[in-house]
Amino acid sequence: MRAAEGAGAKALLVTHGPDVRYLSGFTGSSGAVALLGGRATLFTDGRYAEQARAEAAGLRVVIDKRPPEMQALEWLTSLGGRPCAYDAGRTTVASLERMKKALPGPLRRGFFLPMDGLVAGLRQIKDEEEVTRLRRACAVGCGLFAAVLEYVTRSATEAEVAAQLEFMARLAGAEAMSFETIVAGGERSALPHGRASSARLPARGFVTLDFGVVVDGYCSDMTRTVHLGRATEREWEVYHSVLEAQQAAIAAVRAGVRCAVVDEAARSVLRDAGLEKEFAHSTGHGVGLEIHEGPRIAAGQEQVLEAGMVITIEPGVYLARKPAGAVPAHGRTQQGRLRSEGDAVEGHGFGVRIEDMLLVTRTGCEVLTDASPKDWIEL
Ligand code: ZN
Ligand code: ZN
Repeated sequence: MRAAEGAGAKALLVTHGPDVRYLSGFTGSSGAVALLGGRATLFTDGRYAEQARAEAAGLRVVIDKRPPEMQALEWLTSLGGRPCAYDAGRTTVASLERMKKALPGPLRRGFFLPMDGLVAGLRQIKDEEEVTRLRRACAVGCGLFAAVLEYVTRSATEAEVAAQLEFMARLAGAEAMSFETIVAGGERSALPHGRASSARLPARGFVTLDFGVVVDGYCSDMTRTVHLGRATEREWEVYHSVLEAQQAAIAAVRAGVRCAVVDEAARSVLRDAGLEKEFAHSTGHGVGLEIHEGPRIAAGQEQVLEAGMVITIEPGVYLARKPAGAVPAHGRTQQGRLRSEGDAVEGHGFGVRIEDMLLVTRTGCEVLTDASPKDWIEL
């Protein structure tokens, strides 16, 4: 609220679900929090009456049939809460129009003051209770990875592996998956977002598993890449380049360091390995109530890491199928042998990504998913 006041706002209206939850504790799907003159009020509808009173203890709770943001607006206008800051990055044009229309005509002009990421900024620094929940989510995630390996076999489909993982996640206490589980085998591992499909895992090749669970509202996120069958030299090299890049980035994490510096730590390792172009996404992101939060660990990000942030470090390399005739630089380059050995460099594409979640501390970081080893796994 202080930041909103600094920008000239008298009030603040929050409608984005995770922000509402962060400020009030209320987990229902229909809620709005309005802040005015040091008073915070949660608005929701009758379906959530009991839940809201239980979860948002300490907050004034208003229950009404109308949409919560409309109730909040009426309250704010009646108390002179103008201008009212709202999160422009989390409010659709349509819902802003609807809210404007609901205002009395003379108030419409200049009522809303767009601001970006007010609550999202607060949410980047996790308190102790949040860290405990994130730790728990990560522990469940690591347990799942260990348990799902027995289903990662050449005859299984990606969807079957994902189904096993998600089934076990529920039994392990997850409320939900934090995003659509990625199981990408063989050539499909070259797709950074290869959602589990009906494709069968190959006899030989990488399988990338990227998944997360929600525990007590907080998300985990981790990626491990394993190899089915015997790998080629090139596959082994690429895996270890990615691992080295990931470890270099983790070693660079510390409060006070710019996000761009952490990104560059990973990128420079892959550059030296001749794989920079194949690392086409950012190095990481914040995680919390949502799977993707600030800060962004990417090139050009001047934001400075602070103790209490929880971020991912997830470099990846994705090698598309090489056009016919292209010959790799390393030893085994005879066309015939390559085909029979299934060398992924020439014959088909492959990808490797390794992702951990970590807590930024004053002196470095603590890897929250370190219960899952990242050593080479050949199944
Ligand atoms: Zn992930
Ligand atoms: Zn991630």
